Amino acid sequence: MSDSVLQPEVDKSLSFAVLSSGSKANCSVVCSGSDRVLIDCGLSCRRTEERLRQSGIAPETISAVVITHEHSDHVGGLRVFARKYAVPVHIVSGVERTGNFAVFSSELKIRHFRAGESFSVGQLEFQSYSIHHDALDPVAFRINAHGRSIAFITDLGQVTELIRYAIRDVDALVLEFNHDRGKLMSCSYPWEIKQRIAGRMGHLSNDDAAELMVQSALDSTRVPQVVVAAHISENSNCPEIVLGTMQAAWKRSGIEHTPRFFAGSVAEPLPLISLDRIVNRVLPIEYGEDSPLDDEKIAKFGGMK
Ligand SMILES: [Zn+2]
Ligand SMILES: [Zn+2]
Repeated sequence: MSDSVLQPEVDKSLSFAVLSSGSKANCSVVCSGSDRVLIDCGLSCRRTEERLRQSGIAPETISAVVITHEHSDHVGGLRVFARKYAVPVHIVSGVERTGNFAVFSSELKIRHFRAGESFSVGQLEFQSYSIHHDALDPVAFRINAHGRSIAFITDLGQVTELIRYAIRDVDALVLEFNHDRGKLMSCSYPWEIKQRIAGRMGHLSNDDAAELMVQSALDSTRVPQVVVAAHISENSNCPEIVLGTMQAAWKRSGIEHTPRFFAGSVAEPLPLISLDRIVNRVLPIEYGEDSPLDDEKIAKFGGMK
């Protein structure tokens, strides 16, 4: 595939693709014009390259990598990718001394920020927000460009006022729906792991995420056009349960406009979603209002209205 084919025409203001999302590997890309930034780098370099190309983005055009925290499902492919493409890596100060990071951080072009600070990569403004999770100093991001915004909120054990504030009035929301509480308690994980996941420094349950999604929409002047369920556990959750929970919670809220719901996965990337096109009511995958959710659709991106 030539490079000319790999220039997305859909990123005039703000577009994004969830390349991989789950307990094993997390990586997304957010674009505004020629500014293209990876959020986390948990896939191998080869897989990251493959999935970027599938989204119409040449890996060589990535401007930077931004890291939420040092867990391996977020940085597993970072060393190889950041060195190969010589891109700067934005991390919270001190993270470079943790875990595996300490082994290879000296090989990278590190750019520090502090949790709570904002910084820019070209036209993309990143606002960072502290979250409760068992890492050194983890953050979530809200990314703004040309009057549009996307929030990436994963790996958090509890919902805080700060996070409610971070996602107010966003155009797109990528939000952790990690586990179903019942499935988590009955799965084969040791008790300590279950406690860690369900605890205040662990991960968000489907019910907590659905409450956050709906309440933030009620508190906003407009609702998000797209919500992507992210970091779905392969052992204590499944896309069908997540999408059903999202849809039911939204219905109960009585909010008139319903976003498009997608479920991220490790197995395959979601399509590149342009917020310009969504505003114009054209999506990569469009399902009619009365089109029922069936297994085929769930298998194919999980998108539904
Ligand atoms: Zn984590
Ligand atoms: Zn994670």
